[in-house]
Amino acid sequence: MPVYRSVCPLDCFDNCIWQVHVEDGKVVKIAGDPDFSPTKGFVCSKARKQIDRLYSPDRLLHPLRSVDGRWQKISWEQAYEIIADKLTSIIEKYGSQAILHHSGSGSNGILKTLDRRFFNALGGATVPAGSPCWGSGLAATEYDFGACMAHTWEDHTRAKTIILWGRDPFTTNPHLVPYLKEAQKNGAQITVINPIRVPTSELADRYVSLRPGTDGALALGMAHCILRERWLDWEFVRNHVEGFAEYARMVKNFPPEKVAKITGVSEETIVELAREYAIRKPSCIILGYGMQRYTNGGQTVRAINSLAAITGNIGVPGGGVNYAFLKAKQDLLKPIDGRELARKTRTVPFPTWGSSVLSTDDPPIKCIFVTRSNPVTQLPNTAKVVEAFKRTEFVVVIDFFLNDTADLADLVLPCTTVFEEEDIIYNSMNYHLAYAPQLVKPLGEAKSDPDIFMELAEYMGLQKFFNRSKAEWLREALEKAVEYGVTLERLKKEPVRNPLVRDVAWEDKKFLTPSGKFELYSERAAKDGLPPLPVYREPKENVADVQGATSEYPLQLITPHPAGRMHSQFLNLQSMEEAESLPSVEIHPETARQRYIRHGEEVIVESRHGQIRALAKISSAVRQDTVKIEQGWWIKEGGGVNFLTPEAVPDMGLGVPYYDCGCEIRKIY
Ligand code: SF4
Repeated sequence: MPVYRSVCPLDCFDNCIWQVHVEDGKVVKIAGDPDFSPTKGFVCSKARKQIDRLYSPDRLLHPLRSVDGRWQKISWEQAYEIIADKLTSIIEKYGSQAILHHSGSGSNGILKTLDRRFFNALGGATVPAGSPCWGSGLAATEYDFGACMAHTWEDHTRAKTIILWGRDPFTTNPHLVPYLKEAQKNGAQITVINPIRVPTSELADRYVSLRPGTDGALALGMAHCILRERWLDWEFVRNHVEGFAEYARMVKNFPPEKVAKITGVSEETIVELAREYAIRKPSCIILGYGMQRYTNGGQTVRAINSLAAITGNIGVPGGGVNYAFLKAKQDLLKPIDGRELARKTRTVPFPTWGSSVLSTDDPPIKCIFVTRSNPVTQLPNTAKVVEAFKRTEFVVVIDFFLNDTADLADLVLPCTTVFEEEDIIYNSMNYHLAYAPQLVKPLGEAKSDPDIFMELAEYMGLQKFFNRSKAEWLREALEKAVEYGVTLERLKKEPVRNPLVRDVAWEDKKFLTPSGKFELYSERAAKDGLPPLPVYREPKENVADVQGATSEYPLQLITPHPAGRMHSQFLNLQSMEEAESLPSVEIHPETARQRYIRHGEEVIVESRHGQIRALAKISSAVRQDTVKIEQGWWIKEGGGVNFLTPEAVPDMGLGVPYYDCGCEIRKIY
């Protein structure tokens, strides 16, 4: 049976290289490439689901038009004609910014970025600003370091202390686990810090549960202990750190007894965490997304970053605060998104998307064009998002299925899966590029996103867009990479590690900040209207505190990524064992007892923004003050957790503070 090398297109930490088995023109199996070191011969359940998606009977295989609430099959020619007419008349009347191009990271690929080129070639559209998952943390990292760089996974095996701060590799990053185990074999102590007792806690040497949204206070409490006990690295601080004196003054206000009250973590644990992190070096922090999904999320990441700076755990093997490899990706690839073609662009912030689309004027939003994203399921305050879509004159969605967003469209265009198209795939959280060849013929009339936009551009006469082949676009994107030996021909033979990624980030200690140092005190932040130091502020929606104070919505709602889905992808492809009529809400046994709720019972979960139904799952993995509902459950399938989440603006970077959400659970009588 022919076996081909390909790569997972999902926006996942692991960036797996696959061996795809094809029989009689059909994809029948995916295995992990045993010769590729991070993948090491295994894949997660989401790989298999991509075959289920390819052959799903529900998959869209023809363009559809909504006529009086019913879907009508149309040809591509008709679809292009309708879109071209509509876009042309909107642009003539209101200008190109009356079009909102809403794009996400649902499927990665260099050629996929041609969607942006199309709208830039039209003159520049309105686009969302920020990034729901990690915008706040990225902004924080830029203030402190000047750019976002991380250590390789191989390097983590050299650490003696590892803190998995809000990261749960067992659930969302399984290929990191062997590296963590190797680090443990080499003598590393692993701590998990998370308000949920996540599966990775079982592997860890210590699990620290804290009150949601107080991670920044914990970091400053650790810093207080490090300074008080003189555990800091004076040489690193003297030579490479800006603003230590101001920082030290601030940190004096965070003694462990005070921080214990804020976080719910005992004084002894705070001191022990600080001691181990500062003394048992090298120490490495691996960040997840959860701790920055609050209104204080950016400052939280700045406070965590500061720990590495005062202890000299930066630029050394086995150290670092590890978030992503964004800079190396940006430095290697030339953008082909046509940003230079746009006359003007405008943004709507991700965290307030629904309200912003509704209130945007001059020009108002007349068209929403959605690619690689399912905003109706995924953005906060669903009621506002749905209203924004319903009030928009013309909505086009490219997708595999009629999901919650496609249901609100005037036109839905069917796209191909990774097996039916070619591309080079590289995400920002990993450091390998790989070529995904076309392995089977597209089913039905499905087309790849770049084909759709190239054909539409040709139909509309956008000269700067269509007259090139996909290979030419890929070569243009690799224009800088070829200087490092990364060519299309080589990528067709093997996956390539980004040559700009070093095992150890910031080894030369030349930070890309205005001072050239790590900035505990950031003038740039001050100029942006932010506190220059990583101050701690309570999350805005402050629910029950450790003293037991309550509000109308006393439970903190956390909506993490599920193991078996990528956001909302694959929800409709759940197996019989996974299939439930409603999402689960995980609650602590005491929380359930106080409300007379039994395991498996249907309940109402309510916040000040809305309510949904869910099945109670009683679990001591969640704290008494916290409930957990995994994100991504489609509204039309009984989900819609973002009916509960707020449109709140974070301190920086326009991440979405999904977890800044108090809620209550009610029994149904
Ligand atoms: S989702 Fe992640 S872990 Fe699963 S196959 Fe894709 S890259 Fe690998």
